[in-house]
Amino acid sequence: MSNEVNRRWLLASRPDGAPVAENFRLDEAEIPVPGEGEMLLRVIYLSLDPYMRGRMSDAKSYAAPVPIDGVMEGETVAEVMVSNNPDYVPGDIVLARAGWQSYGLSDGSGVRKVARGSVPISTALGVLGMPGLTAYAGLKNIGMPKEGETVVVAAASGPVGSAVGQIAKIRGARAVGIAGGAKKCAYLIDELGFDAAVDHRAPDFAEQLAKACPDGIDVYFENVSGKVFDAVFPLFNQFARMPVCGTIAFYNATNFPEMETYVPTLMRAVLTKRLRIQGFIVYDFASDYPDFARDMASWIEEGRVKYREDIVDGIEQAPEAFVGLLKGKNFGKLVVKVGADPVSS
Ligand code: NDP
Repeated sequence: MSNEVNRRWLLASRPDGAPVAENFRLDEAEIPVPGEGEMLLRVIYLSLDPYMRGRMSDAKSYAAPVPIDGVMEGETVAEVMVSNNPDYVPGDIVLARAGWQSYGLSDGSGVRKVARGSVPISTALGVLGMPGLTAYAGLKNIGMPKEGETVVVAAASGPVGSAVGQIAKIRGARAVGIAGGAKKCAYLIDELGFDAAVDHRAPDFAEQLAKACPDGIDVYFENVSGKVFDAVFPLFNQFARMPVCGTIAFYNATNFPEMETYVPTLMRAVLTKRLRIQGFIVYDFASDYPDFARDMASWIEEGRVKYREDIVDGIEQAPEAFVGLLKGKNFGKLVVKVGADPVSS
């Protein structure tokens, strides 16, 4: 470790629209030294997630922005190298918010040990981590699918959407996925067992979606908004539920598109169809974590939930991979491999 440096991606400037390479700066610093109660973490995997676009902006939100020249935030799976914390020893693999860098310090707050089990440790960032819990808790608490109902989800090949569709199937519902391109749509049906899949880039997307939902829509798990929501909205059944999890179609928007106001039609439908629309942030349902961890682990073991990871090699790739995530270039949970994985190698 003596010749090594800490490679870190800093936020160089705030994006105006889609992030570009110039918004990030690769920096080299000394490997930090842990103080009392702290530990030194070596990052193995860095999770790249859509919410990071929000952290790059200083618009008012539910979480504070990354400061200019600050290390980009992010969840990581890391190895404890040095520990002055009685709860951890060198060699422990942990889930920690070390950010976009190769080494980080932690005092143990918000850190969790990752088991060396039958699944890769990187899954703690995806199907067994925050995105998996988002799907599980959003469906359980807001979507509440019943047997025979139709559940629709967009960004369906990603970690949240793929778990939503598969959990909906486990609950006895019909799962319809929306994804970008034929390859992702085929994966939803052939590999994950969705009942139907529709490409949101197809010119007749709205008609195809209506055909894929002959009995209407009972649960729409909103990850996207924009023109996907426009196609979903007329298909809602009475008493449909819509957990609002993300609106990625607008994350790069500098202002909202000029459009005729939707409000009268939306409010009329909410009233007459008795729709329930509720936004949520995953930590609203933190208390569901133990049930989620138990259920998801057994569903994976039984082969009832499958997952796909899109692993990019090297921390220097992080900005380009992140920019691609916002355009649908990822296929599966996007993770950067920052350092050697002592478990799988
Ligand atoms: P994904 O890995 O699924 O990546 C995002 C996907 O969104 C892209 O791959 C792309 O897939 C799709 N997408 C991007 N732009 C558009 C667009 N304009 N129209 C339609 N689809 C688009 O991400 P996650 O599974 O990690 O996250 C999914 C959603 O869940 C995001 O909105 C995210 O912000 C939200 N989220 C919310 C949480 C919460 O606490 N509320 C927690 C975690 C995630 P494709 O190629 O199929 O179009």
